[in-house]
Amino acid sequence: MTPPPSPARAAAAAPGPTPSTFAERARSAMGWLHTAHFLSSAPKLEHLPPVGLPEIAFVGRSNAGKSTAINTLTQHKRLAFASKTPGRTQHINLFGVGKGQVDDAVLADLPGYGYAAVPREAKLRWQRVMGNYLMTRESLAGVVLMVDPRLGLTELDEVLLDVIRPRVEEGLNFLVLLTKADKLSRAEATKALSIARLQAGGGEVKLFSALKRQGVDDAAELLWRWTHADSGNAGAAAPAA
Ligand code: GDP
Repeated sequence: MTPPPSPARAAAAAPGPTPSTFAERARSAMGWLHTAHFLSSAPKLEHLPPVGLPEIAFVGRSNAGKSTAINTLTQHKRLAFASKTPGRTQHINLFGVGKGQVDDAVLADLPGYGYAAVPREAKLRWQRVMGNYLMTRESLAGVVLMVDPRLGLTELDEVLLDVIRPRVEEGLNFLVLLTKADKLSRAEATKALSIARLQAGGGEVKLFSALKRQGVDDAAELLWRWTHADSGNAGAAAPAA
């Protein structure tokens, strides 16, 4: 694992001055995300190394498009991969991100939930592991929840929302990505957005399509800001939705 940077190295590796336009900031954020590399994998919360860098958790029901979203954002074909074999995805996978070979953030890919073939006992175990992670992981800077808008927020998504709501109210960043947006008509997209905004309890909601590259730059720029709140580059205005 990459050790935390010394202040001098971090300064040397930090991206340059704040790019002024959204397009420039998004490009810089995409370059940053492209540095993502595998750090470690843990079956339980207590096995996760305390990384000490701002961490962004990716969560969602299985098949919501989480692996595709992570691969699209990081521009890697198989950094995260969907395994349809129960048991194989039951790990929290951590990826380091940082320019100049110095990690300054971590992406955490949490196992997809709600997969029908997973035995009830394993489902309950995972609800506990995930709940613990989301409630207690100190370095958590934000949560990205992937939702297939054609299904909307399911009961298990609601459970997750209940778990993180107190932390979101305390300022934890939260983004709902409505995935596979290319499958929606304009009217369906508008409706899905307004319903999800009502349910997201203070979080942001954005349409996302890996296929059409819709919402990719917005999400990348947001993730960068979440993890660089202290860098002086974080004050840039959010792009228009
Ligand atoms: P995961 O189980 O949440 O990791 O979901 P995957 O990333 O494996 O995606 C589930 C299915 O949705 C796969 O068949 C993907 O090809 C499909 N998918 C994911 N993203 C998109 C998208 O943006 N557009 C379309 N049309 N399909 C997508």
